[in-house]
This record gives sequence, structure tokens and C-alpha cells, in this order.
Amino acid sequence: MIDLKTFEIWFITGSQDLYGEETLKLVAEHAQQISAGLNSAKQIPVRVVYKPVVKSTDEIYTTLQQANTAPNCIGIVTWMHTFSPAKMWIRGLSILKKPMLHLHTQFNRDIPWSSIDMDFMNLNQSAHGDREFGFMVSRMRINRKVVVGHWQDPEVLEQIDSWTRAAAGWFDWQGAKFARFGDNMRFVAVTDGDKVEAELKFGFSVNTYGIGDLVAVINAVSDEAVKALTDEYEATYTMDGSLKKGGAKYASVYEAAKIEIGLRKFLVDGGFKGFSDTFEDLHGMIQLPGIAAQRLMADGYGFAGEGDWKTAALVRAFKVMGAGLPGGNAFMEDYTYHFDPNNALVLGSHMLEVDASLANGKASLEVHPLGIGGKADPARLVFNVGSGPALNAALIDMGNRFRLLINEVEAVEPQNDLPNLPVARVLWKPYPDMKTGCAAWIYGGGAHHTAYSQNLTSEHIQDFAAMAGIEFLRIGKDTNISQFRNEILWNETAYR
Ligand code: MN
Repeated sequence: MIDLKTFEIWFITGSQDLYGEETLKLVAEHAQQISAGLNSAKQIPVRVVYKPVVKSTDEIYTTLQQANTAPNCIGIVTWMHTFSPAKMWIRGLSILKKPMLHLHTQFNRDIPWSSIDMDFMNLNQSAHGDREFGFMVSRMRINRKVVVGHWQDPEVLEQIDSWTRAAAGWFDWQGAKFARFGDNMRFVAVTDGDKVEAELKFGFSVNTYGIGDLVAVINAVSDEAVKALTDEYEATYTMDGSLKKGGAKYASVYEAAKIEIGLRKFLVDGGFKGFSDTFEDLHGMIQLPGIAAQRLMADGYGFAGEGDWKTAALVRAFKVMGAGLPGGNAFMEDYTYHFDPNNALVLGSHMLEVDASLANGKASLEVHPLGIGGKADPARLVFNVGSGPALNAALIDMGNRFRLLINEVEAVEPQNDLPNLPVARVLWKPYPDMKTGCAAWIYGGGAHHTAYSQNLTSEHIQDFAAMAGIEFLRIGKDTNISQFRNEILWNETAYR
């Protein structure tokens, strides 16, 4: 569903006419080599497209205008091999709508000590050319990422990758549609927010659909299609005999499969990238969608429960940003704590809908009663989630601004069997420690719902927040609660 190779970033090199044809020919050759090098780097998941060197106000304006409207261009990378007087950039930068990365690099890694002359100096002057350009971007208060180092340096490539993935997630949000079945869970605050402001700020729209519209699609699903899907379930998951065809509880699995097919058809037909539902509003549905939501998430759809459209959209963006990387991105909820002073842990889960892309090994398909919602026993996948570095992110509406808050965590393998817990689960330790991590999260107004990522880092998320132009708060190994509280206080002024 998500193929980052359909996206491109444009490599744009700035210069000026006064160097003469010979030098400008070399500038173009070098820029082509760097562009080709980035394009073939295994770290960079999109295509890198070389653009002819820009040498005047008009060339800059035209190239950036084309970048704005090119359908697959998700951002631009700029580099000043030579000097490119920055007043030439004002007109172009003032209309730029795509994210920008300023690559402060040099064609030659090393100074050729024995042969260096003024011709070399004349050609290789990004050390000051990029400063001139950087001034103008800062002067115009334009968000961009600055990456410094030789273009073949693996660290440089990884930083470009981080920005590129953020740009892909950002691009995916522009014009994206999210469906909301039912409204917010009654009286819940943090999952709500300003959908008009979100569309202005983030580019995606959220609209509601009566549950009856979905039920009509589910009811029209054919018997053969449902049986084919329950066959797929039997081939894919561990299942008790009673849940298989002919078993006493097969009807529950049949109903769950029917919901999955109907929900998927609704999303595909409507061109949606994600959805939310509400257990308080399921009129005409026999079960709450459990396995359906789990499998749709694993296929790349954003989802969050209880009408939480912000988290659904964030999960989708993370899935695009992490596409092709090992590990998953998922809807998560901080559920319950283990306050053992020597081994403090958070148990993350949800009523049913833990993303199947997190499953460590073969998942078990089970049917159990659900205490809330008043519907028939729903089918869900039960599994453990693996260990390793991860993070939780929440997008919250602070009234005058959106805030993207993250907590870096370390997931751990479950040390105990949980025979009576009929949902998938994750265990993690928040950084810098349980008490500081949880306190900072609560000071930051962080939600109980998050997007949980196994393959994105705070750098990806910070780049993403910068593209959106919203507040970013990070809780990690170096977080100090006193400084963190001050950061929140100072941000109130910054965003006033
Ligand atoms: Mn919830």
C-alpha cells in the first residue's frame, strides 16, 4: 500500500552567472554526481532528481514554482557549490510550499593540499556560499533542516533519510481523508479537537459517516468472500477448533470477517487513509471491529478508537514515514502500570485493536466477551510485542496550537505469561525513568492514546513537526523535569 519510491526529492544547486561557462559546467557535473549518489544511497528511500543549476532570480523562482506543483515532489534539497547571492532567492523562497533540506556539503571531501589553487577555491566555496543562503532562509523565518558533512558520509545520509521520511509522511497528509464512524467517546477531552484548524494546519480532512452507511456495506458482503477470508484466518493464525469452520463459535469469526471485508470496501471506495470508530455508536453492528481494525492497520491504514481522529491520522503518517523499515507503527494506549521499584513498566494495549504489524511471532485469533459496548463477543488477535527501542507520540490540541509530544521508551520482552489477558500487549520502560517520563508526559498534556513506533526516532518526528510548523516536545534520556516544565512555560510565550 505504501511505496516510497513513488516519491521524489529535487536536488537544486545554486550559483550565479559571473563564474563563466567553464566553472558552471563543473558545478553542474558535480551536482549531478552528488544527486546520483544520493539517489543510489541505500539510506534514502525516495528518488533524488537532479535539477539544472539555478543562477538567477528568475531561474530560482521558476524551479521552486515547479517543485510546488510537481505531483510527486515531496521536498527540495538545496546546496550552494559556489556563491549564490541570496537576494536572488527571495522571490522563489517566498512562494516555496514544499519542505526544504539545506545540505551544507562540499563536492571534495578533502582539501587537495599539494594542488590547491585559486581555481579550486573559486569552485569549492560552499563553506561561505551556504552561509549566505542560510542567512536568507533564517531572515525569512522559513522552516528547513540543515545537514552538514560530506555527501557520502553515512551520518549525513541518515539525516537526509530522516527528513525524507518526514517529508513523505507530510506529503501523504496533504489532501488525505479520514473517516469517522460515530463521534467522540462521550465526555472525553484529549481525543477531541478542532478539525477545521487541523485541516488548515495539516492538510487532511476528517468527516463523519453514519454507522448505518457502513453497516449497509457490511451487510452486502457475499458469503463466499467471508468464507475465503475465514480460510485465510485459519491459515495465518493459531485458532482453537471451536473457532474454525464447523466449530461452535465459528459464527463469531464469520461475523468478524464480514466486518473486515465491509470496512475495507468502505475505506477503499471512499479513498480513505484511516478511520476511527466508537463503541458507543455501533447500531446495527453485531461486534465491535477487533481483528478488522488490527488487520487494516497492518495494511497501512491509520486507526484510533473512541473517535480519536488525531491519533488515527498520526498513525497513518508514521506508517508512511516508517515504510520499508524493520518494525511497525501502531495505535497504542498506556493501559496499566507495574510500579516495582527495580523493574517499573508500562503495559500498553487497547480493548481489542492492537496493530497486527507489531506481532512478535504467530498471533492467536480468539473470541472473548467485551465488558463495554453491549455487543456480541468480538474476535481479536492476541500476541506479544518484541523488545527494543521505541517511542510513543501524541498529537494534542492545546487550544491555541497543536503540540506533538514524544516519549522515547525501551520495550522489553514479557517475562510472564498473561493467560487471562485476552488482548495483545506491549511492555516498555519510559526514558529517562518511569517517574520522570510519566510526570513529564502529564505536564505536557499528553494523551492516553498514542502512535507507537518501533522504527522512527525523535529526529524523524521533530523534522515532521517542523514541516507542520507545530510545537514539538521530546521526553528522552536527557530529560530533566525542572527544565522540561520551564520549556513548556517558555513555549507558552513562543506560541502566544
Ligand atoms: Mn482508548
